[in-house]
Amino acid sequence: MSAAAAGFAEGEDFPLRPGVRMPDWSLVTDPAARAALAESMAVAGRREKWAGLSPAEDRLWQAVLRGFAATGRAPATATLAGEAGLSAPEVAEHLAALRRRDLLVQDASGEVSAAYPFSAWETPHRVALGVAARPVFALCAIDALGAGAMLGLESRVDSACAACGAPIRIRIAARGRALAAVAPEGAVVWCGIRYAGGCAATSGCALKLFFCSEAHLDAWRQRAGPDAPGHRLAIGAAHQLGMALFVPMLAPG
Ligand SMILES: [Zn+2]
Repeated sequence: MSAAAAGFAEGEDFPLRPGVRMPDWSLVTDPAARAALAESMAVAGRREKWAGLSPAEDRLWQAVLRGFAATGRAPATATLAGEAGLSAPEVAEHLAALRRRDLLVQDASGEVSAAYPFSAWETPHRVALGVAARPVFALCAIDALGAGAMLGLESRVDSACAACGAPIRIRIAARGRALAAVAPEGAVVWCGIRYAGGCAATSGCALKLFFCSEAHLDAWRQRAGPDAPGHRLAIGAAHQLGMALFVPMLAPG
């Protein structure tokens, strides 16, 4: 609760690495998306968890993200050691630190199983990045929409309405920065606000979902708890939120 109590104001940011601020508020103009971004940062204590990365942690984290994007799978510890120029014990130490920062999730053996926006376990959200042959699973709707811009690649998001299972297909052009096509046209995102267990992947991510229509979002909220906190976002607004959060992650300083 202390993290939530610390708060996070709209427009507030912090240094992620030299020359890069988190989040990038210049990418998010929609009022609902700005409110959702500030609340998401506050509830997960992002500033407290993410600020002050060491250069080695940062290098390793970026290698994890690029590994996921390139292969569609979580990169193995042995691969990461080579990519980040670290010894195996250093990789283990820094992966544990990144897990405590809630930048990634590890399985029981210490291997990476998720790193926002990507997941090794199956989720409803598949993202095809650039010309990569293997789509990669994204942890939530926001992560799915922001992944392309993080890598500077066009992307295709394939998901499903959380109420009826109808396919949701979104194409994002201009190196991940411009929404090119949304089907069905009336699709929306619910950005639920929740954080538990020091891990967004197993808490808030499950409440950031696509719906085929406003009516199906309303029906789902009636069942899930009409008073649960969250924001209704147009796909364009949710894409802005994803860009603001994910573009800084791989931005060079
Ligand atoms: Zn539906």
